[in-house]
Amino acid sequence: MECIFCKIINKERPSEIVYRDEKILAFKDTEPKAPVHILIIPQKHIPSVDYLGKEDRELIGELCLVARKLAKEYKISGTGYRLVFNVGKDAGQTIDHLHLHLLGGKKLPWA
Ligand code: AMP
Ligand code: ZN
Repeated sequence: MECIFCKIINKERPSEIVYRDEKILAFKDTEPKAPVHILIIPQKHIPSVDYLGKEDRELIGELCLVARKLAKEYKISGTGYRLVFNVGKDAGQTIDHLHLHLLGGKKLPWA
């Protein structure tokens, strides 16, 4: 399995993990675009939002709940934050393992 995020899940690659449960993992982005930049991923390998099935409904909801919890922990709930799923080439998706970006800690530029 060549997927870099699967390697992080399997501890074959180092990362700064900030949350883990049986289905989800969250770790710091190595090239942060904001003071808080965390990636929240399912442990199940799904290439992108475009590959989600109905059976993933609950999982995708849980990613958002973990994002909300981490936003509280990192004290950006009050000032606001952005959640992003990049999907495919035009959105600039570079890693084909579904990930939710949690960004905050500064006024975020838009497009
Ligand atoms: P995307 O462009 O939406 O596919 O986002 C991929 C993100 O993964 C980028 O923000 C990268 O900085 C980040 N990234 C790449 N490799 C790693 C890694 N080994 N650990 C943590 N973040 C990474
Ligand atoms: Zn993967």
